[in-house]
Amino acid sequence: MRIAVLSDVHANLTALDAVLADAGAVDAVWQLGDVVGYGPEPDAVVARLREIGAKGVRGNHDAAACGGPEIEWFNPEARRAMEWTRNAITATTVEWLAGLPERLTEGACELVHGSYREPLWEYVTSEGVARANLAVLDGAVRVGLHGHTHMPVAFLEERGGGDADGGDADGGDADGGPGRRPLSTIRGRAGETLELRGRRALVNPGSVGQPRDGDPRASYLVWEPEADRVTWHRVDYDVEAVQRSMREAGLPASLAARLSIGL
Ligand code: ZN
Repeated sequence: MRIAVLSDVHANLTALDAVLADAGAVDAVWQLGDVVGYGPEPDAVVARLREIGAKGVRGNHDAAACGGPEIEWFNPEARRAMEWTRNAITATTVEWLAGLPERLTEGACELVHGSYREPLWEYVTSEGVARANLAVLDGAVRVGLHGHTHMPVAFLEERGGGDADGGDADGGDADGGPGRRPLSTIRGRAGETLELRGRRALVNPGSVGQPRDGDPRASYLVWEPEADRVTWHRVDYDVEAVQRSMREAGLPASLAARLSIGL
């Protein structure tokens, strides 16, 4: 099985379609929230995800788009874009976004937008935060898929010295205590494959619609459950066309400009 895992599409249909074309025939598409916000085509992005039967969760921007108080924590540009989004989207889009759960378990994976402790808001940006979240992942769930930071990265729990028998299900020392296992941080560069081999990990596919790692190309990953591995991919798309649409829509110029540099 090949599953395309997407996050932070942010109403960028051009980037989403480039990613779907690049992924080709997949068995499923999962999305990790922030379907809308920032970008110019929220309705069309939701329509595409519905059409392909994408499963997924709600992000802080999706919650705000449905009228939630999350907008109060947005910076001025994000807030302007969200006010635009609220005015632009149809009732059908609101209904679909409102129906997204905060968490979804699919086999060995749990899908959230931010983190396992705080599905909508926490940014997993350090090994300390990753470790704290690995500690609360349920025993049957081994792979945490999340977005929110717009950074393609994985935090991988290495095996401790004493469990060469592959006893990966114990999880008993994942509480941050003295016996805790070492954690590796893996940058999800284009074409990078991470073989999990039964290890626990938090994995971020990066952002489809607004990458922030200095590479403007759309980012996503493919999860192969039987092979127990993830591979990150980057895809060129017509950034200028999206910037034009954003200007025409009256969205903040700074949000359009950042797409050129991927920051
Ligand atoms: Zn986002």
